[in-house]
Amino acid sequence: MNATIAPNSGGLGQNKSVIGIASLAWAGKRGYWTAMGHADLHVHTTSSDGMMSAAMVLNYVAVNTSLDVLAITDHNTLDGWLRARDFKEAPANDHLAELDLVPGIEVSSLDGHVIGLWVEKMIPRDMSAAETVAAIHEQGGLALSPHPYAWLPGLREFAGVGSKFLTLPFDAVECRNSTPTETFNNCRTVWMNRRRSSPIAEYGGSDAHFLWAISRTWTEFPGRGASALRKALERKQTRARGLTWGPISLWHYYRDKTRWRKFCSEHNVRLHDL
Ligand SMILES: [Zn+2]
Ligand SMILES: [Zn+2]
Repeated sequence: MNATIAPNSGGLGQNKSVIGIASLAWAGKRGYWTAMGHADLHVHTTSSDGMMSAAMVLNYVAVNTSLDVLAITDHNTLDGWLRARDFKEAPANDHLAELDLVPGIEVSSLDGHVIGLWVEKMIPRDMSAAETVAAIHEQGGLALSPHPYAWLPGLREFAGVGSKFLTLPFDAVECRNSTPTETFNNCRTVWMNRRRSSPIAEYGGSDAHFLWAISRTWTEFPGRGASALRKALERKQTRARGLTWGPISLWHYYRDKTRWRKFCSEHNVRLHDL
């Protein structure tokens, strides 16, 4: 049987295959074919000093962001994560099926704030940073250093562990915190981390206390979902990403920061105690 062959199709087809395979290999090497996931690993709710409930956070994330993974990290309590988990698992909330939650807490150590992820048992406050990191590791969690260089006189609500993130066995450091006053400190953190002989994983966390601040900074990682995120943190493949501030967004931020402080005083949130 004679097959009809289009003129020149053989040679050109072979070339196309070679070019196609070479392009795929190049794209694979550059990481372009790998889907990148997005996570916000630092969000507060009304379980500590946030203005929004866990349910409001989850609905906001589902409708307004492209996050695959979210960690609610309330100060010295796992209540925020537990409420989020219960809300996500409620039968009426199928729209949250694509979002993975990571158990989280932001612990006030004597040396500054330490975030524990994949932590399901309470970590006591007021231990040294070294003891806090050890307690997180003991239950199989990852220890993160949020806003390490943040410091405001007399205000423990926003204290970091400083250069201790370089010497203690932290798993990752927050290189982009979305608070506008952290812009310089974020650069300092990146610089300090990258000049050490073995940098730890970098991540971005919004430290959101009101809704629209969620996901202003985020963590990018290869793959999708919580297990891919954990693998990426352990392999130091995460990247800290974020939006920059302009005059209008800054004005909105400080307007809502004032509202937040009023909210805290009305709800007896003692910021100095966090
Ligand atoms: Zn903090
Ligand atoms: Zn925080």
